[in-house]
Amino acid sequence: MGPHRPCPVCGERRARALHRRPGRRILRCACGLVFVDPLPSEAEVAAREAAAFRGQLLAETRAMFDAYGRGYRDHDPVVRAFARHLATLGRLAAGRRLLDVGVGTGLLVHLARQAGWDAAGVDLCAEAAARAAREFGVAVAVGEFLAADLPGGYDAITMADVVEHSRDPRAFLARARTLLAPGGALYVGVPNHRSPVYLAADVLGRVPGTGGLVDRLYVPNHYQYFTPDTLAALAREAGFTVAAVERENSYLGRYELSPVVRGGLAALLTAGRAVGMESRLALFARRT
Ligand SMILES: [Zn+2]
Repeated sequence: MGPHRPCPVCGERRARALHRRPGRRILRCACGLVFVDPLPSEAEVAAREAAAFRGQLLAETRAMFDAYGRGYRDHDPVVRAFARHLATLGRLAAGRRLLDVGVGTGLLVHLARQAGWDAAGVDLCAEAAARAAREFGVAVAVGEFLAADLPGGYDAITMADVVEHSRDPRAFLARARTLLAPGGALYVGVPNHRSPVYLAADVLGRVPGTGGLVDRLYVPNHYQYFTPDTLAALAREAGFTVAAVERENSYLGRYELSPVVRGGLAALLTAGRAVGMESRLALFARRT
């Protein structure tokens, strides 16, 4: 492969290969961002998201959305985390108009409504929008976030497990800024690359014959991997003042895993918690 694309956060071309896989490289920029090269086309990205929604992209996430329809449980760790993040946004935002970008089953929009927000969503995938309407009766506009016809003036925008799927994270946050009212608040939830889970894969994945491990963790529909610093830099670059970058561990109950893999991941998550390197990031910021 020839020269790589510029870093989607800092724009430089100083990245080095962390992994070389068939048809793609996983690169680490000097700024700390890890990203995939080459970037797939818009059509390919949309096709992967539709496949992921139908449970056809990854075996581990086949049933991921099943627990988060209208039969969700209040004490599920994902539900509790959403509720906590909405409360944080509520303290940052002046008003109660909320837009959720990338709705999944519509659960976050539903929980926001339960918590008193005037909430709606936007999703690239028509099937996801239809499902959110069916499960929770929530309104979801269909379209690519950068181009979708949205009224704007929101007091809060949420992006849970979305920005790592975007072809252009800078443009994504810039659009969020444009759509927020002055002082409006942003929540971005992404995997944390600075965690023992990725560290283990980055070390073990260099051993010949272990590329499958790299492909399992660097999944086909994630195009960038953030650390606390690179996520905060992206938000500042897009015109936000960062209020907090919180860390939390993934809920392994979301994934279908063999007992051996589940045990190994649980041990890595426990180790991460002990050293402040939990596997997920939750950024809260306000429009400057
Ligand atoms: Zn960079």
